[in-house]
Amino acid sequence: MDTIDQCLLTVQTRIRDIAQAAGRDPASIQLLAVSKTRNITEIQQVLNAGITHFGENYLQEALEKIEALSTKAIDWHFIGPVQSNKTRHIAESFQWVHSVEREKIARRLNDQRRDDQPPLNVCLQVNISGELTKSGVDLAQLPELAATVAELPRLQLRGLMALPAPFDDLDQQRIGFRALREAMDKLNQQAYALDTLSMGTTHDLQAAILEGATIVRIGTAIFGPRQ
Ligand SMILES: *Cc1c(COP(=O)(O)O)cnc(C)c1O
Repeated sequence: MDTIDQCLLTVQTRIRDIAQAAGRDPASIQLLAVSKTRNITEIQQVLNAGITHFGENYLQEALEKIEALSTKAIDWHFIGPVQSNKTRHIAESFQWVHSVEREKIARRLNDQRRDDQPPLNVCLQVNISGELTKSGVDLAQLPELAATVAELPRLQLRGLMALPAPFDDLDQQRIGFRALREAMDKLNQQAYALDTLSMGTTHDLQAAILEGATIVRIGTAIFGPRQ
């Protein structure tokens, strides 16, 4: 068995074990293979192993892959920062965007999603712990952004995403993820029916699953270290 297949199996087993230990159904956790910087051959290998959701951060690189793999049934997730001059291609070529953090970007994605396409699945990126990158909407502004996005007809507001500071300690990792889950619960107690918590990478997968992640975004543990 090749290394990628082996690593993928290890990740899948880990997700299952963590979920079961937490009393969660492993099927409620979607593995998103983060394929930024990986080539078509590497992606094909993961695809052949049955993974159909791939995450990309850089638009130009992603569009080349989407084109090259256009005959395959893949759900492409945009997980990187969204610049407003890039929204058209993102709106037209992806099934998901995890990193919406501003109203202006949401409106552009909505306007540029074609009528013949199903609504674009959207997660709002939240800055839960004053994280290093400073990406994401502050918790205080989240309700207003959610209300705006929920009204946009070509976007389907699915949930929340976070990329917290990379702590090594499990309990510390859980604090940020718990805050994200609580933010989603709070919105759902109002008018929403959000079903997606996009959280957890190679480094903090366990903490994310323990706190309720429904999509985990894993690159390194599947493909190996990035160059
Ligand atoms: C790169 C990236 C990941 C994957 O990180 P790994 O440590 O390689 O698993 C997940 N989420 C986002 C937003 C990323 O940019």
